[in-house]
Amino acid sequence: MALSPKQRLRNQVALVTGASSGIGAGVAKSLAADGATVVVNYHSDEEGANKTKQEIEEMGGKAIIVQADVSKEEEVQSMFKQTVEQLGTVHILINNSGLQDDAKFLDMTLEQWNKVIGVNLTGQFLCAREAAREFVRRGPQPEISKATGKIICMSSVHEVIPWAGHVNYASSKGGIMLLMKSIAQELAPHKIRVNSIGPGAIATPINASARDTPEEEKSLLTLIPYGRIGEPKDIGDVAAWLASDEADYVTGTTIFADGGMTLYPGFADNG
Ligand code: NAD
Repeated sequence: MALSPKQRLRNQVALVTGASSGIGAGVAKSLAADGATVVVNYHSDEEGANKTKQEIEEMGGKAIIVQADVSKEEEVQSMFKQTVEQLGTVHILINNSGLQDDAKFLDMTLEQWNKVIGVNLTGQFLCAREAAREFVRRGPQPEISKATGKIICMSSVHEVIPWAGHVNYASSKGGIMLLMKSIAQELAPHKIRVNSIGPGAIATPINASARDTPEEEKSLLTLIPYGRIGEPKDIGDVAAWLASDEADYVTGTTIFADGGMTLYPGFADNG
């Protein structure tokens, strides 16, 4: 990836949770390409975080690394404190960290439920709250961006598509929808924009097991009218636009970037 001539996010700091792999790494690179200084958060994959930082620097961008478990309040607060100490403030939060721990509903343990809700939903609450507190503390900087702050939640097509065998995950993403909309409603008077991206199937470690064999990949493609599995850059491009002033009138909405997965493809020739 190369630096974009537009530089829509120049002089802005973007914190990306879970930027050591997959979509988070892709979004971190897209935001850096558009001029943002990126805070690469990771949980346990330090090597992955170093790789993201190195790739950003190789294209001429700027990044720092901060470790934190997004499900732990004190670690999230420390992550924002370190960010403000090192970079002055934050303008953009990408609430990306997420995981799956799948089980049939009858077998799902409370531990599996709590683990997924803790990272995917509580983690987004904690990071959004700290980001919003920093946006309000810092106040508007219209010379840098029309909005005082931007929060982008990584949701999923499963904020609207039920998912048997993944009840904890689908519940976390459904929860993110109203978390995002309620925060957007509450923070709009502060000129803080809050939106979600709902990816479909993007080739990352989280779903590698669903793409193991050509047969599995073919079966996955039947769910995607556009006929290809997405790449992290597909989501990074949406995030960079959504964080920029080009999207200044967009708040409280989910943009599905899913090759049409939410179009009920099973009905395409079944009417
Ligand atoms: P991934 O496994 O590569 O990335 C998940 C990231 O979350 C990793 O970097 C991981 O370290 C981080 N993470 C996990 N637990 C954490 C914790 N406690 N604290 C901080 N970070 C933690 O998978 P991905 O596909 O890149 O997933 C990124 C986001 O995109 C997730 O929220 C996922 O639900 C969402 N998503 C992915 C797809 C897809 O098809 N890949 C589709 C829809 C939504």
